[in-house]
Amino acid sequence: MLANAVWTALGDRLGMLDVVATRDEGTLIGHLGPDILDDAFPTEGLAEALHRIAQRGRTPIAEVLLDQTALAGIGTIWASEPLFLRRIWPWTPAAEVPDLAGLLLMTRGLMVRSVESTSGPTVTGEGGRGQGSYVHSRMGRPCRRCGTPIERGVAGEPPTERPISYCPRCQPAP
Ligand SMILES: [Zn+2]
Repeated sequence: MLANAVWTALGDRLGMLDVVATRDEGTLIGHLGPDILDDAFPTEGLAEALHRIAQRGRTPIAEVLLDQTALAGIGTIWASEPLFLRRIWPWTPAAEVPDLAGLLLMTRGLMVRSVESTSGPTVTGEGGRGQGSYVHSRMGRPCRRCGTPIERGVAGEPPTERPISYCPRCQPAP
């Protein structure tokens, strides 16, 4: 938790946190893509995000979703879960993902609902440890859709690679 006399910022399950002086903010956020949780995202940010993602061409969609310069706000939960729901292989080239706009708007809808949840991040709508996700943090456990063990792969290259969870049967490589 960070706080001053006016504001309190509460972070929940943060993978990384950088704190800088206000004058240096540009070094951290000057390069960010549109914020998926911004109220104006559906009307103003979406087109720019789609443009930035399309520019990544053959880069795997999971890696691009986690790239904050393409679209800001998505971590490993919100990269893995929507790709499962849409049955998209996480290493599908970004430019070949069907209905990318629909994927981003669905992701935003799930994130907004989760923010409003009192029991922490949830995709399934269920609360409680291990109940809130379809694939994230469920490696080796049976897929909720088909029973196949959930696998964990890697998006990106060292040292900035990130874990991506997926069902190899529901999200097969093309
Ligand atoms: Zn499955």
